[in-house]
Amino acid sequence: MSTQSEEPLDVERIRGEFPILERDVGDGQRVVYLDNAATSQTPDRVVDAMDDYYRETNSNVHRGIHHLSQEASLAYEEAHDRLAEFVGASGGREEMVFTKNTTEGLNLVAHGWGLRELDEGDEVVLTEMEHHSSLVTWQQIAKRTGADLKFIAVDDEGRLDMDHAQEIIGPDTEMVSVTHVSNTLGTVNPISDLADLAHEHGSYVFADGAQAVPHQSVDVEDLGVDFYAFSGHKMCGPTGIGGLYGKSHLLDAMEPFMYGGGMVRKVEFEETTWADVPEKFEAGTPPIAEGIALAEAADYLDDIGRERIDRHERDLVEYAMNRLGEFDDIEVYGPPAGERAGLVSFNLEGVHAHDLASIMNDHAVAIRPGDHCTQPLHDVLGTAASARASFYLYNTKAEVDALVEAIDDARQLFA
Ligand code: PMP
Repeated sequence: MSTQSEEPLDVERIRGEFPILERDVGDGQRVVYLDNAATSQTPDRVVDAMDDYYRETNSNVHRGIHHLSQEASLAYEEAHDRLAEFVGASGGREEMVFTKNTTEGLNLVAHGWGLRELDEGDEVVLTEMEHHSSLVTWQQIAKRTGADLKFIAVDDEGRLDMDHAQEIIGPDTEMVSVTHVSNTLGTVNPISDLADLAHEHGSYVFADGAQAVPHQSVDVEDLGVDFYAFSGHKMCGPTGIGGLYGKSHLLDAMEPFMYGGGMVRKVEFEETTWADVPEKFEAGTPPIAEGIALAEAADYLDDIGRERIDRHERDLVEYAMNRLGEFDDIEVYGPPAGERAGLVSFNLEGVHAHDLASIMNDHAVAIRPGDHCTQPLHDVLGTAASARASFYLYNTKAEVDALVEAIDDARQLFA
């Protein structure tokens, strides 16, 4: 580990790179942005990368003959290599498909692999903490193929019950699809152990990295996963772009998810053959500016250091858990500080999460109320909704204090 990675973040300097954090969101109040698990903010250099692309290079890709198209194609292809490297995939662009977001990565595999490979009696194993993007997708594919879904239970502390995982992952399991970090509980799941377990039974493993890739170093090869998806808009990148890692031989064998131009090798009236990965999965004109800017976001995060970002967030979440723990009327969900990623979901007794978020908004504190696209998990937790504060590299302890003050205001109002 480098010395640089030991140093705490210079948060004031970092905040200077995100002008939106200076925004007055009403009554002269500066936004306290604690909704990073939904979407992170975008630093100047990523916005500049988009801007530069449109000012200097804008052109369609797929290797047109003219200068601008050549340049755009090269930059877009290299962006794939950069994102492959960013998640530890040594195969470069042949293992990195650009998608719209994590949801599309899941759908791509569920349709491209699942529809072809799953049959009656096969099992897809998920967890009780899956995001709807995984749960609903596999549920619908299971209905269409006759496969069964099973769910690894979450224990009282918000951890996966690994004994239950041992019980339900077996010879009929064809896919284990699990979130790396829970967007509701903050739990960091033991992906390598699950991958070992799945592979012992000849199953594949899909990890949903939406809440992991932006915040910690990820190495898909160390994790041992077969597929791994993430979203650009949660990692300081633009909306409309995400990545899907897949082992090369699996992507090669899979059916395309969408058809059209740009993904073909030879087309005849009756038959078509496919281009190589990633083009095979990127039909039509892709999000070129977004892809190039996503590579800039990856550079940005690496320049700062993902270990440092992770440590900063863990420090913040520990502070937040301690502050929230001062009050008997606050229920916090998920594992203890020290074991969780930088987000915390909670409820204030007697106040609906939506009302709480609305009062927070009066204080310019941006959090998210609701089920966070994990309705079945909320059923398990015994509540319809929770309030979630989620942190990133630019957040401060003073902002956690602002959160706690706003909660106090809600408490007074509803007392
Ligand atoms: N999985 C998890 C764990 C998430 O937190 C999210 C976003 N909340 C998604 C998947 C879906 O991400 P997107 O909307 O970017 O597809």
